[in-house]
Amino acid sequence: MNQLERDMLDKAERIVSFSIKCYREKLFAGKSGNLSLFDRERGLIAITPAGKDYTLMQPEDIVWIDLSGARVTGSRDPSSEWRLHAEIYRAFPEVNAVVHTHSPFATSFALGDSGIPLVLIEMAGSLGGDVKVAPFAMPGSEAVGLGAVCALRGRKACLLQNHGMVAVGQDLKEAYLNAVYTEDAAKIYSYALRNGSVHYLSEEDILALKAATQAK
Ligand SMILES: [Zn+2]
Repeated sequence: MNQLERDMLDKAERIVSFSIKCYREKLFAGKSGNLSLFDRERGLIAITPAGKDYTLMQPEDIVWIDLSGARVTGSRDPSSEWRLHAEIYRAFPEVNAVVHTHSPFATSFALGDSGIPLVLIEMAGSLGGDVKVAPFAMPGSEAVGLGAVCALRGRKACLLQNHGMVAVGQDLKEAYLNAVYTEDAAKIYSYALRNGSVHYLSEEDILALKAATQAK
């Protein structure tokens, strides 16, 4: 095995390991959800395959494609949402990993139009603020990706209307953590709404919070 093959295998193993983490954390249910990383130097995406059971996934199931979706290695089809991942990598040079889930609490807010407001302090630091909703688009279409790119500007996560959630990061670990934080924020906000009382931060508080977290 040469250096390149070893590097690709290493990345495929990381994708499998984070896919299993997402499945165990219930961010992925059944065969839903997908994740990828971008090898920006080579211009190649390593992505989970379409319709694969996460508990049985092996590194050789991971598919490598270029930004136009052409398969470079792997025998399986890439996730049907590969265009979502490709549009995000095209738009954001600092993003090298994408996690897409249908996780229940976050997705419950994708059924509405207003997203998840910045109600928790850590949302300012890790997610960049509130979580916006990208307009509805057919699953698997380029429009899903273009909508997500708009909703992700200045943010690390967004919702896809009547569909799910997308979290991004510099690497898989960060994208995974941002997916966990988004689901967590959605869960806490859901409980608060059910409790019947939510204190919303003022514009002034939000600006001060963002300035403080960005200064760190
Ligand atoms: Zn989806």
